[in-house]
Amino acid sequence: MRYLLLSDIHANRPALEAVLHDAAGQYDGVWFLGDVVGYGPHPNECIELLIGLDCLGVAGNHDWAVLGRLNGESFNADARQVLLWTRSVITPTNQHFLESLPTSIASGDYTLVHGSPRYPIWEYILHAAVATANLDHFTTAHCLVGHTHSPALYECSSSSSRSAGRRRHCREVLLRAVPQPHSLPDARVILNPGSVGQPRDGNPQASYAILDTQASTLHHRRVTYPVQEVQAAMLELDFPARLVHRLALGM
Ligand code: ZN
Repeated sequence: MRYLLLSDIHANRPALEAVLHDAAGQYDGVWFLGDVVGYGPHPNECIELLIGLDCLGVAGNHDWAVLGRLNGESFNADARQVLLWTRSVITPTNQHFLESLPTSIASGDYTLVHGSPRYPIWEYILHAAVATANLDHFTTAHCLVGHTHSPALYECSSSSSRSAGRRRHCREVLLRAVPQPHSLPDARVILNPGSVGQPRDGNPQASYAILDTQASTLHHRRVTYPVQEVQAAMLELDFPARLVHRLALGM
């Protein structure tokens, strides 16, 4: 099976549409890693696109905040402003979709979470040490995460080496957008496909990946989308300037 990996869409419809156009015909299923809403001006449109994709997905911290499962006080002022607006416009059907998302799913060899297997809603896996600390917190071979808005691949020592008594650890492997799929390391991996709707790795292009679970290959891709279109919609709604500008910078 080839899975389209989508994370941190953040109510950015032009970015999500560009990814779906770029990936068309190249996947058999969709795995969503959380945060379809927050920051952006198109929460209902993005949820409806996800529902149309019949995806398997998990909840992120912004999804929970819209549902009131997290206190808005835990967000900065910019995020909180958009959170309150999102709560005011979300349709009952789309709210129901958010309510239906679990915090963790195991499917075949993969565990899907937003933050980390240890703390699915909040923890950021930004370093190899944090990836290593999470190895005991999922029972599948591999784990897919989002939340940091930066694509990342961690190669971790296998469980067989644990039985051999060797110290287990993860190391970060350079993950670049490339024209062709490439083989995954022959090890446990923790993979983050990056953010569709608000990349923060200095590249403003939408980020996603296609994972072939049979061939054990990964195709990480970046796609240009009309940033100005989503920025204009944000300005129209008086969203905070910082959130508008960061999209063009990928920060
Ligand atoms: Zn996010």
